[in-house]
Parts: sequence; C-alpha cells; structure tokens
Amino acid sequence: MVFNIMTLFPDIINAYVNQSIIKNAIENELIQVNVHNIRDYSANKHKKVDDYPYGGGGGMIMTVQPIYDCYVNIKKNNPSTKLIYFSPKGKVLNNKLSYEYAKYDNITLLCGHYEGIDERIIDMIVDEEISIGDYVLTGGELPALVFLDSVSRKIDGVLSSQDNVQDESFEDGMLEYPQYTRPAEFNGMKVPDVLLSGNHQNIYKWRKEQSLEITKKRRPDLMKF
Ligand code: SAM
Repeated sequence: MVFNIMTLFPDIINAYVNQSIIKNAIENELIQVNVHNIRDYSANKHKKVDDYPYGGGGGMIMTVQPIYDCYVNIKKNNPSTKLIYFSPKGKVLNNKLSYEYAKYDNITLLCGHYEGIDERIIDMIVDEEISIGDYVLTGGELPALVFLDSVSRKIDGVLSSQDNVQDESFEDGMLEYPQYTRPAEFNGMKVPDVLLSGNHQNIYKWRKEQSLEITKKRRPDLMKF
C-alpha cells in the first residue's frame, strides 16, 4: 500500500516512519511512504504557503496553489489515489475505519497547519476529512502518523505472527485484559497465579473475564449486546 504524505514539515513524518514496526514494513515492501513538501510547490518567489483569512480573524490559512499543484503532481504517478485531509471537523477515526482504509492501494494524506486550509481545496480535491478526536492540534502531521500507523497494522505481514492481534483492544468490541511479564513479583506485587499455572484453558477463561469486566466498566458503549 502506498501512502503519499503532503506536509510543510517533512522531518516530523520522516522521524517517525524511520523507526520500529513502520520502518520494517517499508523495508519489507509492505507499505511505501512518499513524503512531499508542499512548500516546494509554491509559485511565490519567497515560497510563501499561507495568507491572512478573508473576513478577518486571527491566524493564517494555507493557500490553494501550492497544495493543488503538489496534489496534481502526486496524482500523475498515483492515478487511483484518494485524498484524505486531516481536520477536527472530519469523521472520527476508529478501529473499524482503519480496517476499511487498509483495503486501499494508494492514499494521499494532507496535513493542515496554522488555522487550516482554504476551503476550495476541500471542495476541489479532498475525498474524505478525518479527525483523530475532539481536540485541536497544531498540525495534521500527528493525525497523519496516527492514521498511517493504525492502518498499516491492519495490513497482512506488518505485525509479526507472534502478535496476538485478535485479543487486542477494540477487536470484537472489547478492551484487552491486563498483561504481565517477568519478574513474577515486584515490590510485593504478584502476577495473578492463573498466568503462572500453565493451564491454557483457565488462562483463556481468566482473560475473557477480565476483558469483559474492564470493557463493562470503562467502555460499555463498545460492547455488542
Ligand atoms: N481552525 C481549525 C478548526 O478549528 O477546526 C483547526 C486548525 S488546526 C490548529 C491546524 C491543523 O491541524 C488542521 O488543519 C488539521 O490538519 C490538523 N488538526 C488539528 N486537530 C486535528 C484533529 N483533531 N484531527 C485531525 N487533524 C487535526
């Protein structure tokens, strides 16, 4: 799957994708990440990419021309790509949506900055607006990385076969059970006996019960009745 990322801050994206599981996914050619600096497309002699809002008000708005030209250039080599703009006004990302986007072959992610982008970009070329939650961040780079990470995890082969994805939070409408590792006792706090018992049936039962309890308590809205 190809991710094209349009940003004014390529270093933020590169710093993340060059680490850990996402780096391995790129090296194993399971995903491809192409980072495009919107500023490179500015026709302004000072490479300006923002301007004051019509109608007044604080802050700056990203201008149409550099974003539009950057996207036209991406589209040349990625004709089937879909453009997602990150915005607090978008549809809120969740596990189910991440699975849906993992079926795409090619996605372009547009990161806003300042007070956002000129609305004409949304009207002309954006296919979908996505939010990562009901709060406002300084830029779309973190939302783009959250999206890229959560979608990549749904692509076959990105996680190792040892990762038990089926038991993870939000799969099957549940939160995950508590997890422990060595040592078996720390500061007098012991790992539950059942996990040391070697009885897989009892461990399975305990985990299911814990999952149910924590989901009921914290996120009853997730549960399927
Ligand atoms: N003025 C905008 C509003 O009130 O809706 C917020 C602009 S925000 C300061 C700058 C950029 O950060 C946005 O264009 C968007 O790309 C990104 N952003 C901020 N919060 C976000 C969120 N919760 N989800 C997705 N993107 C977000």
